[in-house]
Amino acid sequence: MEESGLAAEITELFEGIGLKPPAEQEGTLIAVSPIDGSKLASFRRATPAMADEAIKRAQTAFLEWRETPAPRRGELIRQYGDLVRDNKEPLSRILSIDCGKSLAEARGEIQEVIDICEYAVGLSRQLFGLQIACERPGHRMAEAWHPVGVFAQISAFNFPAAVWSWGTMVALVCGNAAIWKPSEKAPLTALACGGLLDQVINRFEDAPANLSQVMLGDGAIGRVLADDRRIAVISATGSTTMGRDVAGRVAARLGRSILELGGNNAAIVTPNADMDLAIEGCVFGAAGTAGQRCTTMRRLIVHEDIHDEFLDRMRQGYGQLRVGSPLDESAHVGPLIDQAAFEGMQAALDAAREQGGQIWGGERVLEDAFPGAFYARPAIAAMPGQTPIVLTETFAPILYVMKYRDLEEAIALNNAAPQGLSSSIFSTDMRETELFLSHAGSDCGIANVNIGTSGAEIGGAFGGEKDTGGGRASGSDTWKNYMRRSTNTINYSSQLNLAQGLKFGASAA
Ligand code: NAD
Repeated sequence: MEESGLAAEITELFEGIGLKPPAEQEGTLIAVSPIDGSKLASFRRATPAMADEAIKRAQTAFLEWRETPAPRRGELIRQYGDLVRDNKEPLSRILSIDCGKSLAEARGEIQEVIDICEYAVGLSRQLFGLQIACERPGHRMAEAWHPVGVFAQISAFNFPAAVWSWGTMVALVCGNAAIWKPSEKAPLTALACGGLLDQVINRFEDAPANLSQVMLGDGAIGRVLADDRRIAVISATGSTTMGRDVAGRVAARLGRSILELGGNNAAIVTPNADMDLAIEGCVFGAAGTAGQRCTTMRRLIVHEDIHDEFLDRMRQGYGQLRVGSPLDESAHVGPLIDQAAFEGMQAALDAAREQGGQIWGGERVLEDAFPGAFYARPAIAAMPGQTPIVLTETFAPILYVMKYRDLEEAIALNNAAPQGLSSSIFSTDMRETELFLSHAGSDCGIANVNIGTSGAEIGGAFGGEKDTGGGRASGSDTWKNYMRRSTNTINYSSQLNLAQGLKFGASAA
């Protein structure tokens, strides 16, 4: 495989942030840039024996770290957030070269890491339990939250930094030790973000060594982590196929998993929508990040009265999109992650045609400029209905457009997907939007009004239902997923009163 100037740039970027450049090892794990298909570095894959050692080290670190008061743990995360802020530009460039995300979106993702650090710092003084009314006189009942142990994060290629930070920054503040198994398709971002965290841990007086570890490898090492009962909580982000495997393995050992899996997100556009705003929201939602966000808009359900005009305007919007290198700031749409993703896109478009769809776009472009990479024009597929391919998540920029007649039908179409991650409605009619948000509305973990399906903020719980896995990461009260709950009943009287008025032995006399 060819090397290009990108490998040299990666070396410079790593040195610039005070990290050893990713070494050329004997390994078989090869980091390839989706920008031009060139080799960036190669690595040794973690073996089960290496995973065993890493988990032992993490267990030792955990026992020490849980003794550090939570606000002090927050101070470590504050220092890490500052370091990421100072290195935002080089980290964004590494991320862009590593996973092919546009520089603007890469900056947004690194900003998300900074934001989650700030959130976790605040949380470090807010890990609270409840005081609960107790039926027995002279007793007090309360719940306490304690660190849970070793936390492992398996992450997907498309958010190679943010997803890790959602889990790991919170898990560390909660007093756990962390192991990260990043995607084999985007390992450099993990080495950079994990390497900077090591710098902070190494100079932080109260932080044990090996508090955070990065383990490179593919699904095989992910399965080792899923099977290991010493991993108290495992968060896995990726495809539903991966999640089913991880869920089964973790359930078999009665462990705890947080699953953030595939999405097949729809937007409903009603005749009462602000059309300009809806077009803008739908073009970005469907074509941004080259359709490689879990929250990418993949289905568009448009009222029959406005369907044809809306479709025309969407096509005009798509016509203005520039496909190009993510490092070229004038490009809107970057490459697909690899050849398999491009082939998956073509297969889905063929299936859509067979199922009665009319397709615009989808063809490979920039093949002369980047023969080793896979750039495709985002596709729109006007469908006769919600056919099987529409109900399948294809991780590429394909937007399926369908008609509806009444809102209940549109909501039923939205909810018919096996996945339940994100959804939105474009309407200025309060009756329509409130129905969509109600218990009888969207069944997804995320339901938006007058914005697209993507672009969540870190303060809200993130995740979805059904085939999306049911997990929640990031904001709201999701920190509870990273701790164990202890219910405490304290008797401060001199009587042994039993609950439910039970009399036993001497107390029954
Ligand atoms: P993927 O499932 O191929 O890989 C994700 C991660 O899981 C990688 O680190 C991989 O090595 C690991 N893995 C694969 N098989 C495994 C197994 N059997 N056991 C343990 N680990 C295993 O996904 P991808 O192609 O990297 O990412 C795209 C998918 O991720 C899409 O389906 C997308 O919707 C989803 N995604 C979901 C979210 C979310 O928050 N819901 C966020 C980002 C991506």
